[in-house]
Amino acid sequence: MTATLIDGKQIAQAIRAELQEEVRKLKARGVTPGLGVVLVGNDPASTSYVTAKERACHEIGIHSDDHRLPAGTSQKDLLALIDSMNRDPSIDGILVQLPLPKPIDESAVLRAVIPEKDVDGFHPVNVGKMVLGEKAFLPCTPHGVVQLLARSGVKVAGAHVVVVGRSNIVGKPVANMLLQKKENANATVTICHTGTRDMGYFTRQADILIVAAGRPGTVTADMIKPGAVVIDVGVNRVDDPTKKAGFRLVGDVDFDAVKERASMITPVPGGVGPMTITMLLHNTIESARARA
Ligand code: NAP
Repeated sequence: MTATLIDGKQIAQAIRAELQEEVRKLKARGVTPGLGVVLVGNDPASTSYVTAKERACHEIGIHSDDHRLPAGTSQKDLLALIDSMNRDPSIDGILVQLPLPKPIDESAVLRAVIPEKDVDGFHPVNVGKMVLGEKAFLPCTPHGVVQLLARSGVKVAGAHVVVVGRSNIVGKPVANMLLQKKENANATVTICHTGTRDMGYFTRQADILIVAAGRPGTVTADMIKPGAVVIDVGVNRVDDPTKKAGFRLVGDVDFDAVKERASMITPVPGGVGPMTITMLLHNTIESARARA
């Protein structure tokens, strides 16, 4: 069996076209959605993520209020900026790019963003609401995974979903979203991590396997049930002298072998990645609707 590719780029483009239409309608009612974007320091990966987010905003007509601050910015100054954006009625969402340079307390900064503008879905109020199954801003990468499954026609209800990874930004929220008694969810969910004994025992039972471990080769073909759907969230740089940059991006799954056993699989890049920014745009527009 050779798996069908789940094309994240194409699905993200389709959602962005819908979002662009939403923005057009909001503008017709006098509301331009606004996203405050904060980058502290000049980490190359963070800089490229922020640039991509700003570009995506502009492409669909969201106003982005960009703040690129020096690495030595104090926590006090950062909190003051967030406070001013919390009060600014033209800003519907606030994104603080992580990681923040030490000694800034990341959790204090994330909690300073008011839950109504927390379009990353990291504030404890939004996390709590998500767990309770209430309306909330859902974190972008896990929400993107849920959308990828839904728009690829994968039946999640009743399926056994195995998630590898329990981080607060991917593993825990995606597991929580998929176990809700809701549309595009209602799965039986198992979470694996480094404390799991014999991980293959669990992954081989997965109808849908979601891998967010941050390590290439975490999942090999022998760990897959034939016909499973595999979502690879991992993004890892591996040295590759044949590339101009000296590296290439790979996921956490041994793609070439696993695609011969799975029924559907996401590539890296071009799978989950394009969905993350798309769901950020979605949340910002959702927030702007509150003042339309
Ligand atoms: P993280 O915070 O490092 O968490 C990794 C999780 O995987 C941890 O829970 C860890 O277990 C578990 N893990 C690691 N190696 C494992 C192994 N060999 N067996 C079982 N469990 C293992 O990473 P993250 O932030 O969730 O990100 C995961 C990956 O997704 C990274 O490659 C990241 O770059 C990528 N990512 C992509 C996007 C996107 O937009 N495409 C967005 C976010 C993240 P313990 O808890 O026991 O340590």
